[in-house]
Amino acid sequence: MIKIREMFKIIKKIIMEKPKKLLLVGGGHAHIFLIKQFALKPIPGVDLFLVSDSNYQYYSGMAAGYVEGIYGLEEISFDLRKMCRHSGVEFIKGRVTGIDAQNRCVTLESDEIVPFDILSLDTGSDMAGGNVQGVVEFAWCIKPLGNLIALRKNFIGLTAYESQVVIAGAGAAGIEMAFALKALSDIMKKNIEITLAHSGNLILKGYHENVREKTMRKLNRDKIKVLSNHKISSILEKDIFMESGKQINYDFLIWAAGPKANPLYKSSGFSVDKDGYMIVNSYLQSVDYDFIFGAGDCISFSEFAYVKKVGVYAIREAPYLYGNLLRFIRNEGLQRYIPQKNYLAIISAGEKQAIMQYQGMAISGGMSYKLKGFIDCRFMKKFKFY
Ligand SMILES: Cc1cc2nc3c(=O)[nH]c(=O)nc-3n(C[C@H](O)[C@H](O)[C@H](O)COP(=O)(O)OP(=O)(O)OC[C@H]3O[C@@H](n4cnc5c(N)ncnc54)[C@H](O)[C@@H]3O)c2cc1C
Repeated sequence: MIKIREMFKIIKKIIMEKPKKLLLVGGGHAHIFLIKQFALKPIPGVDLFLVSDSNYQYYSGMAAGYVEGIYGLEEISFDLRKMCRHSGVEFIKGRVTGIDAQNRCVTLESDEIVPFDILSLDTGSDMAGGNVQGVVEFAWCIKPLGNLIALRKNFIGLTAYESQVVIAGAGAAGIEMAFALKALSDIMKKNIEITLAHSGNLILKGYHENVREKTMRKLNRDKIKVLSNHKISSILEKDIFMESGKQINYDFLIWAAGPKANPLYKSSGFSVDKDGYMIVNSYLQSVDYDFIFGAGDCISFSEFAYVKKVGVYAIREAPYLYGNLLRFIRNEGLQRYIPQKNYLAIISAGEKQAIMQYQGMAISGGMSYKLKGFIDCRFMKKFKFY
């Protein structure tokens, strides 16, 4: 008798149990992988949602190629709405401004509340230096990458034959932009002077010395000026003021000052590292809440301090994120992810040239660019399944 009652209870539980809500925030690299997996293999008993502040996700590896004119916008972008439609994921357009882990919901900028049972975060990073006076009003910020559409259009629209272009930041992104704009200005047959201004004493911080040397040689060949130890303190319509007291003029200013943490994690009460990135364990799981996971630039590993804010890691983490979300839903043991220390980095140097770094080796030229093009196009082809 008791057994039959127990059985009814179990059957009732199965029938009545609501599907679990898996909410993805941000359409970053790892989530692109997840959305494709959902298209290939739907997860029974799970409702899927994606909140993204943009309908499109742009692939940063091809961003410089787009600015230069090698790739069209369609070639470097994922249509998130379409991807979601083909994968049974409900797309919600909005920017998440708060995460309430206790009540398992997120708040959007529009004040809409989106509930979840399990949350996965892949929101990337913001651009540093946005608080420098005048940046918002006068500079073209390269992040979010969607900004590159207007940046390119306005650069092409520069009317003066001789224009001064300044790029703030000499990391890989700033350098790639400098080379791309130089190549584009040659196509436009304009005499555009490009200057890279940055606060450090060396370009390409974190790269090998021989990569830096090859890059400096190409910058010199392209007549791109480098101003090291020049920290920008404020900007007016045509003038840039440095902390040193120096002042330079510009007609077009690009802001490429490197990554900065999204304030969302700190303000939502998560454990964050010294820079404000959400701390996760080696299962890509928040150290505060076991039902919250993350990947890409927005996370910081409690164990692996060497992981950099580059897309390579977001891509490598994706299958682990996917696997661990499934395992968590099924109450199975999670799989440990150990990030690699070495990875191939290829900096686009304009005119279908690139500088490649792998384990201390630096190779520059057309072959490096071909390899970069092959890897980037393969990535787009693999995930543009819709
Ligand atoms: C110009 C440039 C070139 C680069 N080139 C390379 C390269 O060649 N190789 C490389 O490895 N790395 C490169 N990087 C670094 C690389 O772009 C990042 O490391 C990578 O994009 C991080 O991926 P992600 O998945 O963490 O997030 P992202 O790709 O940044 O995606 C995050 C997404 O989340 C959305 N989002 C953010 N906040 C919210 C929110 N609150 N609510 C909703 N949605 C939100 C964003 O709009 C975005 O679509 C480059 C960066 C730049 C700027």
